[in-house]
Parts: sequence; structure tokens; C-alpha cells
Amino acid sequence: MRGLEGRVALVTGASGGIGRATVERLISEGAIVHASDLASCLPDIAGARGVHALDVTEPDAWTCVIAAIVDQGSGFDILINNAGASTQDVITDPSTVDLDAWRMSIRVNADGCFLGCRTVWPVLGAARPGAIVNISSLASFVGTPFDPAYGAAKAAVMQLTRSYALAGAGRRPPVRCNSVHPGVIWTDMWKRHAARLADASGNSIDAIQADLSARIPMGRPGTAEEVASVIAFLASEDAGYVTGQAIVIDGGMTAG
Ligand code: NAP
Repeated sequence: MRGLEGRVALVTGASGGIGRATVERLISEGAIVHASDLASCLPDIAGARGVHALDVTEPDAWTCVIAAIVDQGSGFDILINNAGASTQDVITDPSTVDLDAWRMSIRVNADGCFLGCRTVWPVLGAARPGAIVNISSLASFVGTPFDPAYGAAKAAVMQLTRSYALAGAGRRPPVRCNSVHPGVIWTDMWKRHAARLADASGNSIDAIQADLSARIPMGRPGTAEEVASVIAFLASEDAGYVTGQAIVIDGGMTAG
């Protein structure tokens, strides 16, 4: 892909499935990649330029990590706001949505993404075009009664993306901002969710996965690598005229 060689990128939530695959894909495209995650699960990824403890809900931590990357003198070009979390329960009755769980989801998924965009904004696009890719979800388009907070937070990410895209479109060099919306991707997040669905329904995880696959037109969950390739494209100059867009990666689930 054009425009990734030598570009400096930060990927948050990089210990997880999609984050790790994205770091590896950007490295393979020649980017200088910094990986971050919570201090309790720092990623160990061959070829990463730096590994940073970054709780995305902490404004001061964002400031420190971005300053540390910029201090290395190679600039800063690409932010992948990937860190995310779903709540721990399967909600069956909307009157039982827990306020603390709601706030956790908004903090990690929406506040975290906003803080990332806000912190990198002054340093992005200083000498070269900049790009932000925000990892939202299919849940920003369809209701998620099993986890209402998650869908609400991810919809906020989509709308935030459009605002930063418009603000960056007129900058010279331009800064682009897009969101990606994975459907069912078989990472730890989905495996944990499938386990909770199995507990709640009394079915096996295999039965839950078979049921999910039957509801996906392509007949299977996606892989982290399939999401990472779309993220890398949006970060690259091959997507140089794409901004403010919400790109769905769902095996056809929302096609009809
Ligand atoms: P994952 O494997 O659970 O990875 C998410 C990563 O984010 C984990 O390493 C997690 O750490 C980290 N994280 C959680 N809270 C954080 C915080 N406050 N600060 C920094 N890092 C934090 O999940 P994934 O499937 O790769 O998800 C990646 C992104 O895709 C998320 O934004 C998710 O919402 C989105 N997504 C996933 C799917 C899917 O089907 N998998 C579908 C739609 C959207 P811990 O493990 O320690 O919590």
C-alpha cells in the first residue's frame, strides 16, 4: 500500500486480536509502529518501535505517550483508535442495565477515542498527510439489546469521526479520519461474549458459534487480519481521498 513506508503510527489496545493484527500488518507495510495497551497486558510484538502503557480513558497518559513518540524525531502520522471493551453481562431486560457498566462502556469506547483524536490533532499532518482510523462496530448501526451501552458508545465514535474528518479535510497537509465497523470477528472479545451467551442460554459455545455463523451471509465470523487489512488501507495514501466514512466489515450482515 502507498504511503505507509516510514510513517509513524500508534495502535491502541494492541494486545487484543484486531490491535495485534493491525500492528503486524502496518509493520509489514514498512510503517514505524508503536503499540499500546493497559499496563496489565502490554503487547510483545516483534518489530514494534515502542510499547507503551496507555489507558485510553486517561488524558494525561495520552499526552505522555504522544510526547514520547514525537520526541523520537520522526513525526507522527497515523492513529489507530482500537482499544475497546464490552460490558460483562448479557442483558435480557433493559431495566437492568447497570449505570456503572454503562459509564465504563462510554468511557473506554467513546471517551477513549475522543481523547486520542484530541491529543494527536496538533501533531498530525505537520509535515505529511495524517490519518486516524477509529474502530467502531456494526453495533453503531443495529440495536444491541444484550449490551445497549456498547452500541451507544460505538455510534458516538462514528459521529465523532465525521466531525474530525471535516475539521481535517481543509488542513494542508490534510488529515483524514474514518471509522471501521466490524461485525462478528472471532477474537477474545467475541469468545468472551459467546461464553456469556452460552452461560445465559445453556447452549454450548460451539452451538452459539454455529448459530452466529448461520446468521452471517458469508457463513463464518471474520478474522482479525481481515479487519486489519481494511484499517491499513484507510491509513494509507491509497485511501487519500477517503474521509469521514464508516466502512462496514461484516460478511454481508447489513446487506439486506
Ligand atoms: P480484544 O481482543 O478484547 O482487544 C481489545 C483490547 O483493548 C484489549 O487488549 C483490551 O485490554 C484493550 N483495552 C480495554 N480497555 C482499555 C483501556 N481503557 N485502555 C487501553 N486498552 C484497553 O477485542 P478485539 O475484538 O480485538 O476488539 C478491538 C476493537 O474492535 C474494539 O474497539 C472492539 O470494540 C472492536 N470490535 C470488535 C468486534 C469483534 O467482533 N471482535 C466487533 C466490532 C467491534 P484487556 O484485554 O485487558 O481488557
